[in-house]
This record gives sequence, structure tokens and C-alpha cells, in this order.
Amino acid sequence: MRSLLPITVRSRLAVTVGALVLGATLLVGPLALTVAEHDMRAVLGDQQFALLSSAAAFIDDRLEARVREMDVLARSVPPAALHDPRRLQAWLSEREPGALDGFVNVVAFARNGDLVASGSSMPSAQPLTGAGRQYFEETVRRRHGLVSEPFQSRLSGAQIVLVTVPVFDAAGDLAYVLAGRIDLQHSNFLRQIDALKPGRSGYLFLMSADGVVIDHPNRERLMERLDAAAGDKMDGYPGAQRALHGFEGWLHGVDRQGAAIFTYKRLRSTGWVLGARYPSDEAFAPMARMRRRVLAVAAALALLAGGFAWWLVRRRLRPLDALRRKVAAMRRGGVGSAALQADPQLCRRDEIGELARAFHGLVHEREQASNRVRAIADNVPAAIAYVDRDERIVFTNAGFERMLGLAGGACGRTVREALGEAGYARLEPLVRAVLRGERGRVEDVRSDDKRRHQLIDYLPDVIEDDDGNLGVAGFYVLAMDISERKEAELVQAASEQRLRLIADNLPVLICYIDRNHRLGFANATFRAWLGLGEGRVEGMHLLEALGKPGYDGARARLLGAFAGNGVRFEMALQAAGQHRILEWTFVPDRGGAAVGADAGAAPGAEAGAVTGVYALAHDMTRMKEAERRLVQMARVDDLTGIANRRLFNETLARALERARRKGSVLGLAYLDIDHFKRINDTWGHGVGDEVLQEFARRLSASVRAVDTVARLAGDEFVIVLEDVGGVAQAAQTGAQVVEAMRAPFATSAGELAVSASVGITLADAGAGPLPDQERLLGQADAALYEAKRAGRDRFVVLGDAAAPAGYRPEG
Ligand code: GH3
Ligand code: MG
Repeated sequence: MRSLLPITVRSRLAVTVGALVLGATLLVGPLALTVAEHDMRAVLGDQQFALLSSAAAFIDDRLEARVREMDVLARSVPPAALHDPRRLQAWLSEREPGALDGFVNVVAFARNGDLVASGSSMPSAQPLTGAGRQYFEETVRRRHGLVSEPFQSRLSGAQIVLVTVPVFDAAGDLAYVLAGRIDLQHSNFLRQIDALKPGRSGYLFLMSADGVVIDHPNRERLMERLDAAAGDKMDGYPGAQRALHGFEGWLHGVDRQGAAIFTYKRLRSTGWVLGARYPSDEAFAPMARMRRRVLAVAAALALLAGGFAWWLVRRRLRPLDALRRKVAAMRRGGVGSAALQADPQLCRRDEIGELARAFHGLVHEREQASNRVRAIADNVPAAIAYVDRDERIVFTNAGFERMLGLAGGACGRTVREALGEAGYARLEPLVRAVLRGERGRVEDVRSDDKRRHQLIDYLPDVIEDDDGNLGVAGFYVLAMDISERKEAELVQAASEQRLRLIADNLPVLICYIDRNHRLGFANATFRAWLGLGEGRVEGMHLLEALGKPGYDGARARLLGAFAGNGVRFEMALQAAGQHRILEWTFVPDRGGAAVGADAGAAPGAEAGAVTGVYALAHDMTRMKEAERRLVQMARVDDLTGIANRRLFNETLARALERARRKGSVLGLAYLDIDHFKRINDTWGHGVGDEVLQEFARRLSASVRAVDTVARLAGDEFVIVLEDVGGVAQAAQTGAQVVEAMRAPFATSAGELAVSASVGITLADAGAGPLPDQERLLGQADAALYEAKRAGRDRFVVLGDAAAPAGYRPEG
């Protein structure tokens, strides 16, 4: 709210000074007046008291004069009348009227109190007595005259006061008491001192020592008691009670007629109290007049002082006004801070000059800071603008102006004006959001060059208001040209895509394993071979991908690779319903080229540390099969399918080794078909082959599963007999084999009779060192030779070299 008071410092100062002067005048004036009035009241009171004192003295004189008058009268009583009341009456009656004009009447009481004479005729015939009356009894007792208290006359009913004197005879005895009556209704005690009454409406009054009114301008108040009602019904006068107890002086009080100055003075002669009532209105009228005048003069003076202060302040603060105008002009942007130094009004040595210089310094610093910010903003490779709450652009850098390319600049326009309706409609939701305090970011092509990309950030300017609430004052727009990055990203994406395509189409399993043994990358072959389907593979744990046996098989090598040792190994993998033999290669990644899920998640990956492992695996299954088959081929006889010489040699070596270990007997049978050449010659080589094949079959069928049958060459066969037990068992085998060949051989040339000769040798590991292969074979050959020599179609068992040679021809 704008204050209704004048708002310039000048006006405020002027008003303040004026108010101060007025306040001081209005405060000091009445204060001084009050002090003055207090003193004047005292003076007035003292003056009143002095006047009253002289009036009291006057009344005292008058009363004493009356007492003296009565004394003179008492002494002038003729001696003859002293004991004769009739003469006394005559004497009193003869007295010239006016001789005792201070009294209404003079009467005489006898010694016993009887009224014996009267100056004027008695109104009543009723006999009167002074006996019992205070004035009488007191006069008799004191033998001295007195002035009585006022009382109501029994004769006339009037309020009266008596002045008594005793009359003595020659012997000094009391003869009479004379009493002069003063009628209060007609007394002129006060009339005689009327000139001494205070002011116009003030008056004097007289009361007895009991407080009964003896004289009062208002006759109705005679005989009233002034003290009794004082304070409650206000019938009395303030201070009357105190005056009856001896107070003399003046006081200010209020009775039923209002405020007044009351003055009291006791009469010396009678103890009566003379009082004066002087209404305050009248008494202080001059003071009230003076007060009004003083206040009027003070107000006029204050107005004058205020006006003067206004003028003076205005004059004195003119440089401040100049400073204010200059600052206002600077805010409008019309002038620079140099204007402050140029004005001679502001080159002063006082506070205003100092203020101007300090302000100039501040503004200059601000201008410099602003210039620096401007220089930075204009030279950063970005477009920067600040938009206020009303969507008006209030700051732009050179980049922003270049970007919008508006004639006359974008600064000062609203966002809608700067972008046009279409552009604004596109950005409006974003502007709304940022003005709600949300940050925003968009990628866009530049309006001035559609080939260029930019990244625009919208940042709310959140400020705290005076009540501590947060609000958005506006927002910053920061646009960065990201065309190069965008292009690089596209190139990289294309290259990555190419690589991915290649990797996916290689018949090689490729993956990247991070330190947590999770997959960072895996090619399509990986998915296919491991049967992982279309789901996400990145981030999957290797255990999950390979299965437990696969993971356990690879784990030790993987740890080795993370320790920096590249490794190549074979490992079978059962997955996707296929058994594969894979040759794995683990290559440690020392470059930190993290891929996929582990990207950037290699804290503390110092140069050289292994951050991951590339794993490649070739499918070796087919090659292994071919290899296995080659090996097989090299050890098997093509024609008969039983072991060939190579395999026989290996088998015999192992059998010898086992026999040596176990201490058992090993047998070796050497066989040869009898007259095979003839079969070849008679029926052809093909039939010879058929015979060889059938021979091998029957041979295999007639031996134990543990025995190995092999073809050495041509029509020569061997049997390795493990754990043969002894000669008997060997002979049994020999007999079985010879017997097995007896049945005719079914060939393409019809049934043929075939026989074989068998030489068996035994080697007993328990009996001494075993012969070597060569020698064992030689012994078997020797046994065969024996069988041939003995007529063929038989077997010969020959013991080992240590045993005596012998044979047992088959019958
Ligand atoms: P013996 O009773 O003394 O053994 O007389 P034999 O006719 O069997 O003579 P020998 O064992 O020396 O002859 C072996 C023959 O076997 C010689 C060779 O022509 C023949 N031969 C060798 N290899 C093959 C072959 O692979 N197939 C055929 N059909 N014949 C072969
Ligand atoms: Mg032969």
C-alpha cells in the first residue's frame, strides 16, 4: 500500500521538524502556563487571605465596639436603679432612640435570671428568663461580658446574637445582666465590609465557632451549619470544618455551586470564623484568557516554524534530490554512472557528496562486473537468454541474438513475439513447466540452420521472497551447438552397428565379462549357442548364462584372466539341446573399454588394471569328431574293423604294465589262417577278404570281453589275454578259437572250409621280470610256428622263457 504521507525525505524532514516545533510549543506553553497559574493561584489566595484578614480585623473592631458600648451602658446604670427594676426599666425606656443603634434592643436580667427590663416593649406578655441560658450563666460565672452564640429568639423567632455585660452595685455584687440583641437578619456586619468581597460574584460569610452561619449574603442560609454537611451533600464549604478547628488561610475546593477559592480567618474577639468564597471561573478568568492567547500564538509560531523548516530542509536537501533524479535517470538507462561525477551539486564534501561517490563506485563496479559477464556470455559457444515471469526476454548474449537473428534484437520482446506463433506453440508446454519450477531439456535443429543440432536447457530461476516462500522469478535458456557431437554419435552408432552386425554373424561366440562376472555384451551367436532367446543378455550373470557346470569349468580361467593372464582352453558345453566342444579364449581388457551394463562402473580402474575380459569361443565339435575318427582309423583294421597293429601295440604295452602291477599272468595268442594263399588263388582276393572278415568276427566272439583281438597283417591275427590264470585257461582259449573256425565259412563263392593255427605264449609277472613286447610276440610266433609245423589246424601253448617249452598238439 502506498502511504498517504509525503514520501520524499525532504517532506518527511520538514513535516517532522514542523511537528516537533508544534509539539514543543504546545507542550512547553501549557506547562509554563500551569507553573505560572500555580504561582498566580498562590498569589491570588494570599491576596484573598490578606483582604479577609483586614475584613476580620474590621469586624473584630466593630464587635469590640459593641461590647464597649454595652460596658459603657452598664456603667451608666443609675445607682438608684441598681436594686430597683422599675427604675431600671424607666432608665432604659428613657434612653434616646439611636443611642444604641448597633442593637435591636437591650434587656436586663435580674440576678436570678428574670427579665426585669427591656429597651422596647416586649412582644409577649409571657415572663422571660435568662436562667439556664448559656450567655446568662456564663456572664454571671465569669462576671464578664461576652458575645453569645447565635440562636433563635423565643420572643421574635428571629436569629439573634446577644452581647452581655454584668452590672455591679457599689458593693461589687452582681445586680443585673444587660444583654444587647443583634438581629442577624438585619445585621450589617458584612454590609460594612462589602467592598472587601472578592470579585464580582464572590462573597463573604460569617460563621460561629460552632459552624452556624451568622451572616451570609443569602439570608436563607442563616443558622445553617456550614461544617456538618461539608463533603457529602456539598451543602457546606470545603475547608469549613478545618477552619473551625483553627485553620486560617485559603484553599481551592468545590461546593455545590462549583469550584472556588475558599478563604478563612478567625475573629479575635469571638472565635467566629470569617470566610470568603471566590468562584474559580472568575478568579482565574485572566489566566484562561492568557492560556488561550498563548496557545494561539504557539500554534501560529509552530506553523511558521514548520513552514520555515520545510523551506530550509528543501533548500538544504536539494543535492539529495539531484542525486535521486540522477539515479532514477540511470535506472531508466539514459545516462551512465559518470553523470554522478559530472554534477557540481554532488561534488560536495558532506555526507551527500560521500553518498554520491560511494554510489558511483558501486555502480561503476556493477557496470564492470556486468561488462565482464556480458563479455563472457558473448564469447561462450552457446546461446544464453534470461526470460522473466511474464515471458519477456530480459537478457540475451550475442550467440542467442545470432541464433534468433531478429532485426532490432530479441531483448525486450516476449517469447511469443520472438519465436512467432508456430515456434511458441511448440515450446509453450516447456515454458509453462519451467515457470512451475521444473527443469527442461530438448534437442532441436537450429531455426537459422536446419543442418545444425542444438541442446537447449531450460533452468528455472528460483528465488525466495520476503516471507521465505520459494517462487520462480523467470528462467534461463542455454542452447549449445551439438552438431559435431551428434555427427560423431551417428558415426559411432553406425560403426557400432557394423561391428555388431559382424559380431552377430561370426560363427564365434563373443562376449564381454565385467569384474562382477556379468555380461556386458554378447553377440547373436552367444544367444543362439546358449539358447538364451530374445531377452536381455546385458547384465546377466555368467552362471545364469553358462549353467553351473559351464561356469564352474570357466571360473578359474576367468579369475586368471582378471589377474592379467590371457588363456585359451577347451571346454564342452551342453546347451540348447546340443553338446558342443568349444575352444575358449579369454583376453583381459586393460583399456577400461567397458561395454554395456558395466559401462563406467569400474571405480578405481587405474591404467593397466583389468576391468573386464573379452571371451571368444570357436565350436570345435566337428573338428574334434574328425580328429577322433582319424585316430580311430589309424588304430582299426579297415577290412575287419578290429584293432590293427598300432592299437595292438598300445594295448599290449598297457596290458604288460597292468600285469606287472598286479603280478598276474598275461597271455598272447598268435594266429594264422592255414593255406590262405590257396583260397586267394582259388576264389579270388575278394573271397579271401570275406574269409578274413568272417575269421575276425568268429575270433572276437570266441574270446572274453577283456581280451583284445587285432589283425597284424595279411592272415595274421593276435589275441591279448589279460589275467589268463595259467596254461590250462590259455589252452582252453586256444581250443575254443580252433574250434570256432571249424564250421564252414559262408562266402560269395559258397561254403569254404577254413582252419587256423594258434601259438600261445604266457608271461607270469609273479615268476620274474616280464619280457618286452618284442620278445613276447616272438615267443607267440614261435608257438605258432610249432603249431604249423605240427600239421596246422591246432594250437600250441608255450610257457614263458623261464618255463620249459612244450606244446600240446590238438588231436
Ligand atoms: P600257411 O598254411 O603256411 O600259412 O600257408 P599259406 O598259404 O596261408 O601262406 P601264407 O600265410 O604265407 O600266405 C599268406 C597269403 O595271404 C599271401 C597273400 O597273398 C595273402 N594275402 C595277404 N594279404 C591279403 C589280403 O589282404 N587279402 C587276401 N585275399 N589275401 C591276402
Ligand atoms: Mg597263412
